[in-house]
Amino acid sequence: MTPIISKLPQVGTTIFTVMSALAAEVGAINLSQGFPDFETSPELIKLVNNAMKNGHNQYAPMPGVMALREEIAKKTEKLYGAVYNPDTEITITAGGTQAIFTAITAVINPNDEVIIFEPAFDCYAPAIKLAGGIVKSLELSPPDYRIPWDMVKRLINSKTRMIILNTPHNPTATILHKEDIDELSALVKNQDILILSDEVYEHLIFDGEMHHGMARYPELQQRSFIVASFGKPFHATGWKVGYCMAPAFLMQEFRKVHQFLVFSVNAPLQYAIAEHLKDENTYLSLPDFFQQKRDYFRKGLEQTKFELLPCSGTYFQSVTFNKITDEKDSDFALRLTKEIGVAAIPTSVFYTQGTDHHVLRFCFAKRQETLDKAVDRLLKL
Ligand code: GLN
Repeated sequence: MTPIISKLPQVGTTIFTVMSALAAEVGAINLSQGFPDFETSPELIKLVNNAMKNGHNQYAPMPGVMALREEIAKKTEKLYGAVYNPDTEITITAGGTQAIFTAITAVINPNDEVIIFEPAFDCYAPAIKLAGGIVKSLELSPPDYRIPWDMVKRLINSKTRMIILNTPHNPTATILHKEDIDELSALVKNQDILILSDEVYEHLIFDGEMHHGMARYPELQQRSFIVASFGKPFHATGWKVGYCMAPAFLMQEFRKVHQFLVFSVNAPLQYAIAEHLKDENTYLSLPDFFQQKRDYFRKGLEQTKFELLPCSGTYFQSVTFNKITDEKDSDFALRLTKEIGVAAIPTSVFYTQGTDHHVLRFCFAKRQETLDKAVDRLLKL
């Protein structure tokens, strides 16, 4: 057989799989891939069980269970003021990554340019390339990773079709501020530019800060795919249920792809989540819950030789390690996992050029004893 021409020659296995597999192999505490090591709520598990017992075991409607889409519409209007029609503007997806891939595939044509900010979550660029689009990346730097909007302006031309945003941001734990929204609004005004806004950590935001999601700003909302997740708020990343909201003209195209990519998402979880969402405390309690973990972990890390970067949202804490070693971040992450027994994510993998700012990312969505154990080990450095 003639050799296959790879569509993604530069791409290997995602860092999350690599680091989690290594952590398991060597028995390290896994603070690399982002997932909690505590259980989701027993009530929610009971609701899933009930949905199964009640016979919700066949295909859900292609765009998702209506009861869930209605709850999402209510929540979005209550929190951000935007009105989405659950019938035509909300689709339940098999997690955030599927929603992102679907949105990009639906609207990016060959040679369309898409602006992304690096470090960028690793699924954005491959999805753009598979659609034939061109990735225009702009590098951000620690400690604050602010977006230089004047440089974004210089990147924009008649081929620019989309800007991908992520707030709260993975891996840097930064958030967009009102000034960013103002700059963005001015830039896209009267332009044919869509926005894909990855907001899967919308409820994990600290210090009383506000989530500046696209649904708050009508002029941005009208051109945005907003991607959200239930895995993060409900401590159930393995369930792979999320959703996408977009104005009908965009959602119509989104569903053309969605129906042939997954058709629909597993039904019992959707019924259960719809019921669970009725209690707003399930998500409004999250900032406090995770802020406590952030503060606890930061206090622990302060005793080590790592230097802490700011953390305004997500369940990730980034650190620099210049006082420890001048190794490459990817080499250090491997050694840390194997020799010290704590797995982390090297952030150079999120830059096209592999830019290494000597920054590692730890996940603090863990029980206190796990964080204690990890800090004890990190103190050995
Ligand atoms: N969002 C998770 C993280 O950043 C990983 C998701 C995945 O493994 N695809 O760690």
